Amino acid sequence: MKFFIETIGCQMNICDSDALSETLKSAGAIKVSALTDADIAIINTCSVRAQAEQKAYSWLGRAEEFKKENPHVKIAVIGCMAERIAPKIKRRFKSVNLIIGSKKIDNAAAKILQLETAKSQLPVNPGIEAVNFTTPDTVSYLTIMRGCDNYCSYCVVPFVRGREVSFDSEKIINDCKKLAANGAQEIMLLGQNVNSYKYNDVTFAKLLREIVKIKELKRLTFMTSHPKDLSDELIDAMANEPKIRKYIHLPMQSGSDKILNLMNRKYSYAHYKNLIKKLRDKVANINITSDIIVGFPGETEEDFLETLQAVEDIKFNALYIFKYSPRPNTKAAQMKDDVSLQEKKRRHNVILELAKRQNNNA
Ligand code: SF4
Repeated sequence: MKFFIETIGCQMNICDSDALSETLKSAGAIKVSALTDADIAIINTCSVRAQAEQKAYSWLGRAEEFKKENPHVKIAVIGCMAERIAPKIKRRFKSVNLIIGSKKIDNAAAKILQLETAKSQLPVNPGIEAVNFTTPDTVSYLTIMRGCDNYCSYCVVPFVRGREVSFDSEKIINDCKKLAANGAQEIMLLGQNVNSYKYNDVTFAKLLREIVKIKELKRLTFMTSHPKDLSDELIDAMANEPKIRKYIHLPMQSGSDKILNLMNRKYSYAHYKNLIKKLRDKVANINITSDIIVGFPGETEEDFLETLQAVEDIKFNALYIFKYSPRPNTKAAQMKDDVSLQEKKRRHNVILELAKRQNNNA
């Protein structure tokens, strides 16, 4: 059985797709690099932005066209969109054979193999392994938790990925040992809200301190952190453990307390700024990147100028700027989307220009 997998979205989706591919391969399936060579076409979807969903619809349209000419081909849709709008996908794309949402992604390999077992008698593997063994000489990714409990008012993740669950710390450490023994130089630990990891009495900082003891491992990094969970213990671990990369992606989203409150981010700008100061004071040469959303409902020119001033003051090493758009089921979707698209574009460009100037002067 030959399978092709298309992945849309974040690093966690890439990690899930890699793990799924490894499980399918270990059951005898062959991974191909073109949809047109596949018996099973899989798409791992993302719901965070409307654009990501449009991309999945286009891909599914192409997969259905291919299937018309090749009726033996099976189509599987997995991930966040599959969780959020399975009935809609089924209605719109009648020839899709399998839909598995992100909450049941561990069953994906077994279900996909079952699509073909009658024909190929492939053994059915009960789940997918969390470890990615595919890039041993560069960065290997390891998901250490799933879900999110934060309910930022604009974000669909808690609805599609469910409540936050931290994985067993012993298993994570063993997986890291396996990756390092396999030649991995660097491991990136992944979680939607990675620094809120807690398994029994093992905090995220404790977990990092255990993993860096692995002799063969050269570097350890993690993504994505939430400002409200950035503890002194973690900052100390970053400062004192040479193997932990001096890098953090810490989404600020806005410099206006009013907007941060409407976003339900659970911190103020003063708190955020203080975290940046602590990081820079304690962790030598730290590289800090961030996300900003412009045009959130209720964002006035004054709020925007506060964000602009924050970017001016903090001088991030890199910035990812997004124009707000409402996502279904979220609290923000019930608010009036009162900043015009034109104004969102203007605010986006103003911050982008500032960030570019800062980088040129760095
Ligand atoms: S922390 Fe907020 S933005 Fe990040 S995944 Fe959770 S709800 Fe979404």
